Amino acid sequence: MNNVGLIYHPDYLKHDTGSNHPERPERLETMLQHLLQTPIWKQLHHLQPSLAAVEWIQKVHPEYYIKMIEKRCLAGEEILDDGDTHVCPDSYAVALLAAGGVLHAVDQVMNNTLHSAFCAGRPPGHHAETAKVMGFCLFNNVAIGARYAQLNHGVDRVAIVDWDVHHGNGTQEIFYEDPSVLYVSLHQYPLWPGTGALTETGSGKGEGYTLNCPMKPGSGEKEYLEAFRNRILPALHKFQPQLLMVSAGFDAHKDDPLANIQLTEESFATMTEMLMEISATYCGGKIISVLEGGYNLHALARSVEAHLTVLINETI
Ligand SMILES: [Zn+2]
Repeated sequence: MNNVGLIYHPDYLKHDTGSNHPERPERLETMLQHLLQTPIWKQLHHLQPSLAAVEWIQKVHPEYYIKMIEKRCLAGEEILDDGDTHVCPDSYAVALLAAGGVLHAVDQVMNNTLHSAFCAGRPPGHHAETAKVMGFCLFNNVAIGARYAQLNHGVDRVAIVDWDVHHGNGTQEIFYEDPSVLYVSLHQYPLWPGTGALTETGSGKGEGYTLNCPMKPGSGEKEYLEAFRNRILPALHKFQPQLLMVSAGFDAHKDDPLANIQLTEESFATMTEMLMEISATYCGGKIISVLEGGYNLHALARSVEAHLTVLINETI
């Protein structure tokens, strides 16, 4: 049995996105209530993070952008973009806490206290670009964690596998010219945000270090596992990551209201198993998984359970 951390803080519920917003506190409340009734609850190591130091946020986002978010949240603005990135006065601190959750996970896993960790934080991060709020995301939590692992723990090569149903435009943009971070995304395409074409493969020194696996609406486990076997696993073997991170959105579930992909809980379990094999080969079994989307409360809760069960037991 692996030591797996569940990184969570009750203050994650204070990020208030208003009524009828899909990215709502109930996502985490339902997930925790569900996990509490499963055998894995007692096997998980329950850890509370603290706020990320702004110094670490600045490794990904410029100071003016961080200050802009702080000022606009504290001023009581309710929407930070021209879409649906809703905030409240607490959102800036909660966003620092979401990034802090990933930093805590990196510390625990890199110090070998934990094999793996799942960061059950919000707001999510993978749409946040270097200096652009987008798609419910303020700071790019997984990108900040990857940089922290490189700068604070001496990791050279980080692979980020993003199976959220939406393309992680922010993570792609942040590392597009960087050969030290392999960014892999499976996502419905076409779908908002519109990026993530097969032809987007990185640029400059980062050419070949972005791997997009666009999926037609209606695709399911068969197409996802084919992409893993034919494209993603070979790319990971070639890259030989020292740390494997997962942008773990669960909105590619068949019951999710925001997209049209047909995965099930078992699909997430199988993808987790495949990544654990890669991690066992190159990363000492370490996986840091960071919650992104997932908007059917019960499908999200059950999918997280499946993902965590495999991280703990190596099978479902
Ligand atoms: Zn998503």
